[in-house]
Amino acid sequence: MEKRNELYRGKAKTVYTTDDPHYLVMHYRDDVSAFDGVKLAKLDLKGETNNRINAHVMGVLESAGVKTHFVRLLNERESLVKAMKMLPIECVVRNVCAGSMAKRYGIDEGTRLPEPIFEFFLKSDALHDPLCNDDHIRVLGWASADEIGQMKTLTHRVNAVLKPLFAGAGIDLVDYKLEFGHPLDDPQGPLVLGDEFTPDGCRLWDTKSGEKLDKDRFRRDLGEVIERYREVAIRIGAPL
Ligand code: UDP
Repeated sequence: MEKRNELYRGKAKTVYTTDDPHYLVMHYRDDVSAFDGVKLAKLDLKGETNNRINAHVMGVLESAGVKTHFVRLLNERESLVKAMKMLPIECVVRNVCAGSMAKRYGIDEGTRLPEPIFEFFLKSDALHDPLCNDDHIRVLGWASADEIGQMKTLTHRVNAVLKPLFAGAGIDLVDYKLEFGHPLDDPQGPLVLGDEFTPDGCRLWDTKSGEKLDKDRFRRDLGEVIERYREVAIRIGAPL
């Protein structure tokens, strides 16, 4: 598979076309961003650390029967993925109340939830990813009723796999964001997990100490961002 042209440059990853239109190369850069790109920095080793963590987590999910766009690691910073048509929706699952949910409802961060809470957000930096519900998505045509159902089912299946994966490493999986799409070679088929699963898109707290091991270290200027990301990698068994 030959890497060709830059297709899209996101805040932390660059996507390249390949000589096969059904496959893309995802390049994990050292950039980190928060608050819709208002706070930016470069962190040494971030790209390769996230590339490794994502590959490991996607592999665990595939083994558990969750279809993902991940194909294989190519090198330290790059992975081969299936080209997808993504839905413009972010699916968030929360096992513990934190972040925007704590703020929105005035609930203490760290409040344990008796069961996972699922939220949809419209993917739009310009609008700051507004919270939305099934009706907004269906009536405004962002996804069909069937796709909405699939996003919920798949996200709960991912939670059933990842919560124990992190718990086994002494880490609480507090919340995370997933994105889904249809592979270009199967546009009418079932939704497939796309994007990434890394400490950039989830909250991970050490079970014993409560120490934050995710991007909140950057958002809240807690320092040792990559040190903690690398600790996550080692603890969940992702080879660095
Ligand atoms: N998240 C993300 N990208 C987004 C919004 C949220 O990866 O554009 C992740 C975030 O890192 C957290 C979870 O989704 O793990 C829930 O985020 P929240 O709604 O609490 O927003 P935040 O306070 O992180 O902006």
